[in-house]
Amino acid sequence: MDIKGTTKIIGIFGYPITHTLSPVMHNAIFKFLGLDYCYIPFEVRKGYLSDAVKALRALNIKGINVTIPYKEEIIPYLDEISSEARIISAVNTVSVRKGRLIGYNTDGRGFIKAFYKESGLTLRNKKILLLGAGGAAKAVAVQAALMGTKEILIANRTFYKGKELAGHISRFVPTCRVIPLKYTKDTLKKSISRMDILINATSLGMNPKDPLPIPQDLLHPSLVVYDLIYNPPITGLLKAARKVGAKGINGVGMLLYQGALSFEIWTGVRPPIDLMKRVLTKALRSSNAH
Ligand code: NAP
Repeated sequence: MDIKGTTKIIGIFGYPITHTLSPVMHNAIFKFLGLDYCYIPFEVRKGYLSDAVKALRALNIKGINVTIPYKEEIIPYLDEISSEARIISAVNTVSVRKGRLIGYNTDGRGFIKAFYKESGLTLRNKKILLLGAGGAAKAVAVQAALMGTKEILIANRTFYKGKELAGHISRFVPTCRVIPLKYTKDTLKKSISRMDILINATSLGMNPKDPLPIPQDLLHPSLVVYDLIYNPPITGLLKAARKVGAKGINGVGMLLYQGALSFEIWTGVRPPIDLMKRVLTKALRSSNAH
């Protein structure tokens, strides 16, 4: 990269950070567009987040992504946060403008965009069965509710977390019916036949030896199955979906579009999405080859 005295710094805060694909994706686009920016991974160890945030102003860093485990912890250090980030109560993107730190969450909108691009469907009036209630599930569910989803059933291994998430969404978006479910085959069986969309937001499937997050015999051909996992690109759930004739989509698009939205927040420029996708796909392939 051609780093000069004028180069503007963007980065990512997380721990661990070694597996992030964001530097490759963003730096390729900066280079392609001839933008004088550079994207750097910052390994922020436990206990150092406040120092790292102070460094944003001290070092005139223009923006950052925030990843595990700091998406929630960073909020009190920011001057302003977007309404979506406030409802999701997590920030994955910070822009530094005139010394003010402004937080956004592009995960949810990244999902919505990817879902539309890959299925041709919007979430308006749809019924969703969501597996999981962690950070990614929250971003997806809040954004889906804001986009006019009619009903979201949340099944999580730890029931109370699913219940808390359902209560949270109902408070902020009362137009969406949100119900926590027990994560058992019997309970899922009773409701899945009337669902339009199944979203896996559990980490089950990241390891090829994992069991399916839902039994294959509960899937039906009219479901759109969206697995948030992007590595491996074809999980057991997606294979099962294809076997029963359902459409299966992986999480690469969400990763891509959350990155594209962050890029636009920092630079004001809409990145070339096809190139970004090619770079990301290549980086994913080579990370799997190692
Ligand atoms: P997280 O906050 O740690 O949540 C993990 C979720 O998985 C929780 O709901 C947890 O349930 C559930 N879970 C874990 N092990 C399980 C098991 N053995 N059986 C059933 N449920 C289990 O993680 P996250 O950040 O939300 O990430 C979740 C997934 O989304 C990951 O696979 C991640 O790679 C993916 N993701 C994708 C993108 C993208 O851009 N495509 C972005 C973010 C995340 P409990 O509450 O019971 O622990």
